[in-house]
Amino acid sequence: MCNLLTVRWTITPRSPPEPWLACTGCSIARPFRCSGKTRLNASGRRLDAWLIYKCPVCDKSWNRPLFERRPVQDIPPDMLAALQTNDPIWIRRQAFDLAALRSHAFHIEECAEVDVTKRVLDRPDGWSILHVELSVDLPAGIRLDRLLARELGLSRARLQSLHRQERLRLEPGRSDALRKRVADGASIMLNLADEADQTMIGDAASGHSRP
Ligand SMILES: [Zn+2]
Repeated sequence: MCNLLTVRWTITPRSPPEPWLACTGCSIARPFRCSGKTRLNASGRRLDAWLIYKCPVCDKSWNRPLFERRPVQDIPPDMLAALQTNDPIWIRRQAFDLAALRSHAFHIEECAEVDVTKRVLDRPDGWSILHVELSVDLPAGIRLDRLLARELGLSRARLQSLHRQERLRLEPGRSDALRKRVADGASIMLNLADEADQTMIGDAASGHSRP
């Protein structure tokens, strides 16, 4: 379609989720921070690996098991190399593994602060519909309406009103999708044909503003 301004937003959470754990140093539950470091321990032909978390107040550590007593030959070589070199990209991916964290902590605090990188894929003259594609490769704890309000400079009330009028359409299209967390592959269509601030919203969506 030639009336679509298409942009891709890549959403990156600023910090990994923090599991709430009973800190034995503070004698109270605290959200523990991922240190970004791992520990590898060999016992014969078997290995243990942990990801280290720290209490932000007393620095007490908690070792989250990545695997335990695993025979060396059963560990994929790339995983072993990542552990031996403390590969930051691999570690970051483990730090965002919510399912693994949930098995250890009664509550997980997710970071709602995200960085958004915007790329224009197509901006034809005379566009009237804004199409935003979301790319979210690590779990981000921000709701879709908050993200759109902040990045487009619109109030959440106006977004809800546009949604009710079906001028804002979401894919996947659940009725409560605006209040749900952002999801990879989600697509937002916003019909701005009759909106006075169409250009301003389009510029905000594209990642630049005009004087
Ligand atoms: Zn503590």
